[in-house]
Amino acid sequence: MRILLVEDEPDAAHLLAKGLREQAFAVDVAAEGEEAIYLASINNYDLMILDVMLPLKGGFEVCRELRAAGASIPVLMLTARDDVRDRIAGLDSGADDYLVKPFDFHELLARLRALLRRSQSLQPETIEAGDLKINTRSHAVERGGQMIALTAKEYALLEYLARRAGQVVSRSEIAEHVWDENFDPFSNLIEVYIQRLRRKVDEGRDPKLIRTLRGEGYLLTASNDHPSV
Ligand code: CA
Repeated sequence: MRILLVEDEPDAAHLLAKGLREQAFAVDVAAEGEEAIYLASINNYDLMILDVMLPLKGGFEVCRELRAAGASIPVLMLTARDDVRDRIAGLDSGADDYLVKPFDFHELLARLRALLRRSQSLQPETIEAGDLKINTRSHAVERGGQMIALTAKEYALLEYLARRAGQVVSRSEIAEHVWDENFDPFSNLIEVYIQRLRRKVDEGRDPKLIRTLRGEGYLLTASNDHPSV
């Protein structure tokens, strides 16, 4: 899941981005409204966290412009005060939800999950593929009843593949949704992480869930209809 965080206060942005990355989100940060609109136009984000109080172009205006341009990205707005007029203005501008600063980080996570569930047509909390089970709330992963310990990035990659189980996922889609703008498209990082996941998820187990389709991408499936490479 890749998030665009729009926040002009560097300390707040840094802390929030760090917390979200630890929760396996890929995070890009924009410090002002125009940059946010630009980044949203060139990247495929799963969600936007948008501060209302921004220099030059404020959060309400950013949201209105995005919606006017037809962007359906879920937007969680951060308002500075618990003022009913702010909340109404936020929702009227096209935000999907709002949170009043200062907020509890766990409440922010819960709201992100709720928004992501909604945008992914009510995805279940547990994703299953064969004997692999992923709890998207706790990030607990188990296969055949055995817990598998994953790093945040390994988890993010596995969850992304599992959400699209049975479909081929291209390298560029993985780069877009699991990594952030610092990803170097010429690096072999995706291959490295796929290898790590194979070791943890597939080694010594059958069937192999993570398949490579040369020239096309990767596929997570428990069925034998797809040739494994
Ligand atoms: Ca601000």
